[in-house]
Amino acid sequence: MTRGRRGTAAAAAATPQEVAEVLQRYEDLPKAVVFDADYTLWPFWCEMFAPSDTPWLYPDVPPILDGLRQAGCKLALASRTPTPHVASAFLDKLGLRQRFHSIQLIPAANGYDQHSAQKDKTHFPAIQRELGIDYTEMLFYDDEHPNIRRVSTLGVCSILVDTATGVDLAALKQGLEAYTKARQAAS
Ligand SMILES: [Mg+2]
Repeated sequence: MTRGRRGTAAAAAATPQEVAEVLQRYEDLPKAVVFDADYTLWPFWCEMFAPSDTPWLYPDVPPILDGLRQAGCKLALASRTPTPHVASAFLDKLGLRQRFHSIQLIPAANGYDQHSAQKDKTHFPAIQRELGIDYTEMLFYDDEHPNIRRVSTLGVCSILVDTATGVDLAALKQGLEAYTKARQAAS
């Protein structure tokens, strides 16, 4: 996997203009972009926190979410956190709830539970139902290999996120590039 160009916490966030320039390069944007939460949008496991704590995002996440929305993409969240009440509180505190068109906080028994609430069996069918968008018109970001592997089998273009950077400008480009290639190969 390509590593993000930013590895340090001190790096400046991408500007809205940088995000817009990347998005303008692609004619065929995904109709929906789906994000994992822990180590994809924010750099921690939210189960380590309480709802009263103050969360923070990876630096490029806000301009990327805004840019995708402005470009007409629907946004969805797919999380297996064992503490959905913490994730839910953090979505509100970060002003993210109103940015997403579908929010699936469906817990697993724990991070190693390979039987309950898998994203390909539970989260994505719910997102597909709520948004009415085909799996082949979605782009998905997650930091865990098993999720990428499972969701890929649905036909969703799935990108492994570097936990040092979360979803950043490099990951956005990588995802749009992979999505474009997958669509061209299918047509
Ligand atoms: Mg994660």
